[in-house]
Amino acid sequence: MIVVGGGIGGLGAAFSLTRQGLAVRLLESAPAFGEVGAGIQLAPNCTRILDDYGLLQEAKSLGVVPDAMIMRDAVDGDELTRLDLRDLERRYGFPYLVIHRSDLHGLLLRACGRAGVELINDAQVTSYENTAVGARVTLASGRTHEAGVVIAADGLHSVARRLLVDDRPVSSAYVAYRGTVPADRERVKSVDLGEVVVYIGPGCHFVHYGLRGGEMLNQVAVFESPKALAGREDWGTPDELDAAFADTCDFVRDGLPFMWRDKWWRMFDRDPIMNWVHGRIALLGDSAHPPLQYIAQGAIMAIEDGWVLGEHVARHRAADGTPDWDAALAAYESVRPEHCRRVVTTSRAWGELWHLDGVPREQRNALLRARATADYSFVDWLYGPTALTPDQEPPMFEPIPLSSAIPRTAAQGTAA
Ligand SMILES: Cc1cc2nc3c(=O)[nH]c(=O)nc-3n(C[C@H](O)[C@H](O)[C@H](O)COP(=O)(O)OP(=O)(O)OC[C@H]3O[C@@H](n4cnc5c(N)ncnc54)[C@H](O)[C@@H]3O)c2cc1C
Repeated sequence: MIVVGGGIGGLGAAFSLTRQGLAVRLLESAPAFGEVGAGIQLAPNCTRILDDYGLLQEAKSLGVVPDAMIMRDAVDGDELTRLDLRDLERRYGFPYLVIHRSDLHGLLLRACGRAGVELINDAQVTSYENTAVGARVTLASGRTHEAGVVIAADGLHSVARRLLVDDRPVSSAYVAYRGTVPADRERVKSVDLGEVVVYIGPGCHFVHYGLRGGEMLNQVAVFESPKALAGREDWGTPDELDAAFADTCDFVRDGLPFMWRDKWWRMFDRDPIMNWVHGRIALLGDSAHPPLQYIAQGAIMAIEDGWVLGEHVARHRAADGTPDWDAALAAYESVRPEHCRRVVTTSRAWGELWHLDGVPREQRNALLRARATADYSFVDWLYGPTALTPDQEPPMFEPIPLSSAIPRTAAQGTAA
């Protein structure tokens, strides 16, 4: 079989399917395998799978297992709510882990190499088609590859997705700056590297956590770009970054000079689609469900997709071991699109909640402050075991209307 795309999704799928005894050829357009960016957060629904793959110990040795995740207001720096990540690990059975993207990617790449995945670079797929016995891809070079099935893990700008839907990435006009700070800098000495912290503010947010066993601090600064909103090409420049965070607390503003100020990323997602399979060609990862990053589940969903596919191959094969691809792909498509639809739409809603201003910001803060630390009702649907069938998909949480909250200022006013 063929996997197109050597990102986290493609490598995860290739490893999972090789575990089922399949011969996998992975085609990557870039001349070398690699990942850009800095940190990535892996919740228990991902570390559970890494453990099943025998890769969790290595992942833990490369990353940081933080003690707490804390949400603060970006304007006044006040704590709003927190998750005790040690308690969370006890609840879900697997840790919350933060890791450098290139370390996670390298870990999966080495695992694929050991498992015998045929890894091919400089292979840009330009078209896909079904054949009588499977599917075929054509490369920019004109060369073709054929297999019983093709998994398209070709990312946000997927070519394969066009077989299923005529859509475009949706721009949110938000822009991310990333950066890492070495542990010996004063900035890092002032933070607890065992904490994942997100500061949420009007039209912006700022995230930090430790990486590589505490060797460095990872920082992400995200804001709504006025130039992107106006449809201008020169969106997201460093002057916009500084202006967007001008009213945030000292700690957040002091972090901005440490961002990589020569590179920034526009935040896109796509509207959910419920059909990911076209004959023997199936979408996986960002090609199927690119999310906004607010609940940190994009790479996790991609890894879950590969795991679910592997499990269904194991369950749908003939006596001689040949996979029943039609049954395996149907089982995959019966469960993953609905879960990922929930993640994509919840990510959008979560981002809107983070970026509120004025009275709605105060109402949000009141709701977050009222949440009990050990209340997991908002994450149970995410962090539990990945569903293999629709009936295993946990129920969604009930959102609490903002209007039900009494903001602190109003409450104080009433009391006075
Ligand atoms: C700021 C930010 C923070 C994030 N934080 C988190 C987080 O904390 N946790 C989390 O789980 N997710 C996070 N995500 C999301 C996550 O990064 C992505 O969802 C994930 O990397 C998608 O992986 P993928 O393999 O599906 O796609 P990609 O990483 O896009 O990989 C696609 C691969 O396919 C190759 N390719 C593309 N086209 C072709 C072609 N035609 N032929 C051959 N090869 C091709 C590309 O070169 C690439 O290697 C974040 C995203 C952003 C932007």
